[in-house]
Amino acid sequence: MDNKTLQALLDAAAPLIELAVAEDIGPGDATSTATLDPRALLHGRITAKERGVIAGLPVAEAVFRRVDPAITFTARVADGQEVVPGEIVADVVGPGPSLLAAERTALNFLQRMSGIATITRSFATAVSTTNATILDTRKTLPGYRVLDKYAVRMGGGMNHRMSLFDMMMVKDNHIDGAGGIALAVERARAQHPGLPIEVEVRNLDELRQALAIEPPLDRILLDNMDLDTMREAVAIAAGRVPLEASGNVTRARVKDIADTGVDFISVGALTHSVKALDLSMKIQPVEAAAIESLSRETRDDPATRIRVVKNALGDRLVILGHHYQRDDVIAFADYRGDSLELSRRAAQADAEHIVFCGVHFMAETAAILAKPGQRVYIPDMDAGCFLAETASEHLVEEAWGILDTALAATGSSAGAEITPITYVNSDAALKAFCGQHNGTVCTSGNADKILKWAFSQRPRVFFFPDQHLGRNTAHKLGIADDDMLLWNVRRPPSAEAIRSAKVILWPGVCNVHQRFRPEHVHALRARYPAIRIIVHPECKAEMVALADDAGSTSYILKQVEAAPTGTQWAIGTESRLVQRLQAEHPDQRILSLSDVPPFCANMTQITAANLADVLDALLHGESLNEVTIEPEIRHWAKIALERMLAL
Ligand code: SF4
Repeated sequence: MDNKTLQALLDAAAPLIELAVAEDIGPGDATSTATLDPRALLHGRITAKERGVIAGLPVAEAVFRRVDPAITFTARVADGQEVVPGEIVADVVGPGPSLLAAERTALNFLQRMSGIATITRSFATAVSTTNATILDTRKTLPGYRVLDKYAVRMGGGMNHRMSLFDMMMVKDNHIDGAGGIALAVERARAQHPGLPIEVEVRNLDELRQALAIEPPLDRILLDNMDLDTMREAVAIAAGRVPLEASGNVTRARVKDIADTGVDFISVGALTHSVKALDLSMKIQPVEAAAIESLSRETRDDPATRIRVVKNALGDRLVILGHHYQRDDVIAFADYRGDSLELSRRAAQADAEHIVFCGVHFMAETAAILAKPGQRVYIPDMDAGCFLAETASEHLVEEAWGILDTALAATGSSAGAEITPITYVNSDAALKAFCGQHNGTVCTSGNADKILKWAFSQRPRVFFFPDQHLGRNTAHKLGIADDDMLLWNVRRPPSAEAIRSAKVILWPGVCNVHQRFRPEHVHALRARYPAIRIIVHPECKAEMVALADDAGSTSYILKQVEAAPTGTQWAIGTESRLVQRLQAEHPDQRILSLSDVPPFCANMTQITAANLADVLDALLHGESLNEVTIEPEIRHWAKIALERMLAL
């Protein structure tokens, strides 16, 4: 977060903190001052009791510091980061009565803001495979608008207008009062020529009137329309003016709304029906905390448990860690890398036990490549991948059938004309599908080489599940957008469209890399003219086009490692990798490309504690979270993977 944003947040929070402190503490915390020694230092640990997204750490810190400037506040996560139950959010140390007096107020701010960020993230994730952006509204808690809207941004949403004065919204009452849309807009523009203007329309007739206005409006709001009408509205507008859907937007319905093709969806519930994120603070004397952490060091601290098992098993165990893993997990990886490097490592490993600290498809890949007798484990079986889950075997088989029928009409077939390629971020069953249909697997590090190979086999490629990697790689090979076809699961393309496509792209996206936007690039270039922008090819094509460079995580690492002192970077990939680069290269300025650094929630699920559990089980001769693959799937998936590794 830049200093200006931070200062604006703290300025808005300051009077609210004063009110809250006066309301809760007033002349003093009667219980704490009566029961605690004011000279004794206490250590408070704020932890998450449920899964969610954190927002408001600077405000919580300001509360503690307002109550007692002697309190030190250390954030253990960043705003915008997802946390799992039990995860440490912050540590606070200070005089006991002050800590306890500030606790409730600080947590009230932090829990409310984190609640907003959490629900926003769930809406943003639901539409992340579409082009729609989630917006907030003015339905905020009176006085809390800056805080509420900040939390929306931390959740991955965008702010709508802040107030009535920074954007004009011509609504039904204005239209009826002025005597029509055109007249209302004319008057509004005459009074405030510099302000953006949005018009609310209730039906398609009003939409046509709004679209006819010159110069075009900045946005049109479709008020409470059903899905069919919204689809029609998108077709009528044909991109002339961005469309916003509003009214009756629920979590269950938001994806259907986004699929109509609207550009924005505003959701009042983000801020008007806040459910606070469950966080708690546990207190202990500082000395006791030190003693406890010392004893944990020698007893049940996850790091110690991991070390003990690593020493005991020696070469019988290898731990692989993906770059997006937490620091306290990656610290124990024998090898760290991206998908390609780790799949090679998995294939070469001789250890009896391979523990994969990454998401499920990575552990599956290791299990497919494992030698006889080798066993593969993952610390959390539920650590999936948002992108991988956008494509199931059933849906891909169904699409293949449609492709086959379209080509059969010309006397050919899908098998004769199309090479299927799956990005390694996919289920084992899809790798097997590629093995069976003479295709292969690719990673972000070798996608161009694999695509070239695919075209040397057959004239067309079916690429899944990541549309952006497929499109970006095809662009590198000189293939134009007109030669690419984006698959639509609900409304498959026509046979004619299929027959004219060279590359058929599955519509999947990664919800981490999808979050980088052109405005992030423009803002950073304006602030740091010499900055180099480098992005992962899972980002949208417009981001790759705007960036100075693009490549896999390993490629990004190599570029930073080779750069001279003083180089400035803005990196468009998962934030743990960016943070690690910042720590390892203090001589360079390294920033996340996004103002809200995106962390992969799936990778977050792997913790030192669940890694230690898996290792403990191994030490006791038990098997916990072993990843196994059906023999038939393994056979064909291995063929696809070995084909890739041989190229
Ligand atoms: S960063 Fe994206 S592609 Fe990688 S594991 Fe997370 S969700 Fe999947």
